[in-house]
Amino acid sequence: MTPKTRASKGAESFVARASREQPGTWELAGSIDENADLSFFRALHGPSRLNLRQIKRMNSHGVRSWLENIRKMPGTATLELIECSPVMIDQLSMVTGLLGRGRVVSFYVSLPCLRCGYEHEELFFTEDYRRDGHLPAVSCPRCATTLELGEVESQYGQLGRGK
Ligand SMILES: [Zn+2]
Repeated sequence: MTPKTRASKGAESFVARASREQPGTWELAGSIDENADLSFFRALHGPSRLNLRQIKRMNSHGVRSWLENIRKMPGTATLELIECSPVMIDQLSMVTGLLGRGRVVSFYVSLPCLRCGYEHEELFFTEDYRRDGHLPAVSCPRCATTLELGEVESQYGQLGRGK
């Protein structure tokens, strides 16, 4: 028997919090799984944003629940996804319908430096990709080597193309 308190210890458990500083923005954190309460989708109205920087994991139960809930988003709401974590972008590019009527505004990419091994996280904007047809060049903050975007670019570029 695993005590219930064990799961609540880590940063894993899911939290959805309406931002006080930025009205209309919800900050999501933790793991999107069978225990994640995604009912906030139904409460959205007007221009809404989800900040997905702190999403660490999304499993198949989470995907199903997300799909069910995003469909219940009221017609009066518009949705922008901001600061999507790499985990979130992986799912968004794999699972049709996960975006619903929303669009991705910005996302984090993990870029390991081939020279010094530093793992850099860069925030990209889909608008830049749409305008220029590629992601902006990024240098390693530690050794200034230009970081290799490689296949990352085509994966993330698909989201930039959007609708
Ligand atoms: Zn480096």
